Amino acid sequence: MRVLVCGASMAGLSAAYWFSHHGADVTVVEMCDGLRRGGAPIDIRGEALGTADRMGILDAARRERVVPADPGTVLDADGLPVATIDLTWFANETADDVEITRDRLNDLLFAAAQPRADFRFGVSIAQLANEDTVEDAGKDAVQVRFTDRRQETFDLVVGADGLHSATRRMAFGAESDFLVHQGFYVALANLGQHEPWHQAMFSVPGLMAAVRDVGDGPLAYILVRSDEIDYDYRDLDRQRRIVIDFLERGDAWELPRLRSAFADERITGFYFDSLAQIRMPRWARGRVAVIGDAAHCASLLSGMGTSLAMTAAEYLADEVARTPGSLPAAYERYEERQRPLVDKAQASIAQHGAMMVPGSQAELEQRNELLRQLAARHASSTSQ
Ligand SMILES: Cc1cc2nc3c(=O)[nH]c(=O)nc-3n(C[C@H](O)[C@H](O)[C@H](O)COP(=O)(O)OP(=O)(O)OC[C@H]3O[C@@H](n4cnc5c(N)ncnc54)[C@H](O)[C@@H]3O)c2cc1C
Repeated sequence: MRVLVCGASMAGLSAAYWFSHHGADVTVVEMCDGLRRGGAPIDIRGEALGTADRMGILDAARRERVVPADPGTVLDADGLPVATIDLTWFANETADDVEITRDRLNDLLFAAAQPRADFRFGVSIAQLANEDTVEDAGKDAVQVRFTDRRQETFDLVVGADGLHSATRRMAFGAESDFLVHQGFYVALANLGQHEPWHQAMFSVPGLMAAVRDVGDGPLAYILVRSDEIDYDYRDLDRQRRIVIDFLERGDAWELPRLRSAFADERITGFYFDSLAQIRMPRWARGRVAVIGDAAHCASLLSGMGTSLAMTAAEYLADEVARTPGSLPAAYERYEERQRPLVDKAQASIAQHGAMMVPGSQAELEQRNELLRQLAARHASSTSQ
């Protein structure tokens, strides 16, 4: 079976591993010139721990995990400490979870998948040529035209190209049919290592700005409540300006330096996007399936994006391998296994949003009080 995977991140690298593990001939196209870098630490948790174990990367991921830091200090509008925060107090984390930087996990997944698949960087799908095969799995293989003008046929195309998936658009319809903005934006960037940064979390109604260093250098992490903004998500200058505007909501702590950092076009690891969910009634049709954020982004507030990407890749590949002659039956079983995990993760984010970015001064004070109580409870339970 010839399988094309579009996107080489958590979902695509996992899919490359699992489909080739089951004997498929796998090609991976990634639009960036290499693995796309950046991002805050992410988590492998729940069923994805089993997936990582079966891929043989769990021990390495545990060795490379982020060492949990002390609870972070929460600062008010004047930059004064008002509480402390530790995600383990409320984010359904368990001692088994592995928190690891996105880059390190991508490297581990790439090392597992790379010997087994044909990777083509700087290339994407230009067109799924014969659209009838997209609709009907009974028809012949899918003809794919690539951006480098090559044309090839595949038995299955797996879209693992993230929130703004081109594969999803070509096979299932416009992004606006599936993307649901959750009322937040996120911005991330690596900060210079030469000057020290005051690590903390600045929190005013509608804005959370944090600096955290988990071993690979200081990272700026901004979460903002905002209605949907109309911008071209490929226009990085415009994105930087939007972030700087958000950071104008305060002036204490490191905010002036953060504004300068985001204004610098040489900044590395810059990431800006709407906090959105993808909600699709079906994740596969004909000879095209989507996995990971392309299929069911739960958003960064769920803390489950990577875990869902890894399980989706394993379950889809498993089920296709069980009945390669009947893709519809395989898709049904893939969705049966994956859908409950997605529903739970997508439902979790309202609560996490209220904790991370309270919307009003009253909600902020309530949240800070809750954090102080959690800190006291945690301190008394660890001292016993
Ligand atoms: C730069 C970056 C930083 C992130 N930071 C965080 C974070 O801090 N915390 C968090 O929880 N989540 C973060 N995420 C999202 C997180 O990686 C995903 O939620 C999760 O891991 C699911 O992974 P995925 O492989 O489905 O999607 P993604 O990780 O988004 O990967 C999609 C891949 O597809 C590639 N791609 C996109 N379009 C095309 C195309 N047309 N053709 C070919 N390739 C394409 C992209 O370059 C990327 O490599 C980040 C994502 C990115 C891209």
